[in-house]
Amino acid sequence: MSIYASLPGVDEESPGGPPWAYQGSHILPTEDDPHAGCVSLASIPSHITRDGRDDHPDDGTPWPWLRIAIDTDTEDPAVVIGPAQARHLAEQLNAWADEADPTNPAGEGEDLVEVRRERDQLLTMHAAVTTQWRAAEKDLAQVRYQRDQLREALKTVNGQCRGAEGRLDELQKQQAAVNPPGSTSKQFPADILALLAHRTYLSTACETARLLDGAIIRNPDRDDLPAWRDRMHGRCRLNHKFTGAPCSCHCHQPAD
Ligand SMILES: [Zn+2]
Ligand SMILES: [Zn+2]
Repeated sequence: MSIYASLPGVDEESPGGPPWAYQGSHILPTEDDPHAGCVSLASIPSHITRDGRDDHPDDGTPWPWLRIAIDTDTEDPAVVIGPAQARHLAEQLNAWADEADPTNPAGEGEDLVEVRRERDQLLTMHAAVTTQWRAAEKDLAQVRYQRDQLREALKTVNGQCRGAEGRLDELQKQQAAVNPPGSTSKQFPADILALLAHRTYLSTACETARLLDGAIIRNPDRDDLPAWRDRMHGRCRLNHKFTGAPCSCHCHQPAD
């Protein structure tokens, strides 16, 4: 009784059909050559045992031996096959090899190489992204540090600015106290004043206010100028410091 079990080979049933007849080593085959013979495969199932053999495979795994037979009517034990038949034969051989040696299936080996390649590419990408991320983090830390430094500097400058404004107010108050508008403390004695020729007096503040009036007409888009003009009229000292002559500016005339 045969221990072999047939596997699909190259014959009438297989894709591409049966092989062509081998007509000798001097003949170039053609598509029209007669078909003849077959390639048959046979494996040995796992349940086959023999006395003294304890190396039989696990259930369902064939013994690691495959019989390949070329059956032909001619004298030469050879047939001719084409690519379709060769591919079919290779599939059968690979399928058997994977079953007989499941620890190293051919397909898995290819997959493993592919997966390893993908993993290596991903690791390279990961390293690149990590480097960029670290650099960006460093930049961010640097920018945050500069921002904090600038914030501190801004606080200091703001404080100094407020201090300067306070001192300016103080100085203006002191000046107004020493020589307030309308003060007559610096005026000449009346007998000397009587000897002086009369001349119209326009205070420096009001004169500047009039210059600002001109600037306002020439620069209608500068809406900050009117406030400056009004401020200057407001700062007029009303009388000439030495003669007491009143400022002739229209701003001191009662409104109609
Ligand atoms: Zn005025
Ligand atoms: Zn005035």
